[in-house]
Amino acid sequence: MIAFDASKCVGCGQCVKVCPQGVIVMRDGVAAITDVRSCMECGACRLNCDAGAIELTKGTGCLVAIIREDILKTVPKGTGCGCGTDTTKIPGCC
Ligand code: SF4
Ligand code: SF4
Repeated sequence: MIAFDASKCVGCGQCVKVCPQGVIVMRDGVAAITDVRSCMECGACRLNCDAGAIELTKGTGCLVAIIREDILKTVPKGTGCGCGTDTTKIPGCC
């Protein structure tokens, strides 16, 4: 789930540059979501938004979660992201 707070957006365009899915465009000087269904919830936009204008619940596109939950199977489903909680093993991405 992704959400923008347009009142915080400073129009830098970083989220547009880093989004691998083309989900975000600049419209009237602020970021706007074009097709939320294409968002794979990777977190790159939030990571690169210094203005804190993006809220994101990481989901299917979270590589750390996929590795921990589905490949290594070291944690239960829905708990694998762990960004910022265990940077000694797999660094957080967003
Ligand atoms: S990175 Fe943040 S501040 Fe910059 S355009 Fe995107 S939402 Fe706006
Ligand atoms: S979470 Fe990833 S795919 Fe979704 S809008 Fe942000 S950068 Fe694009």
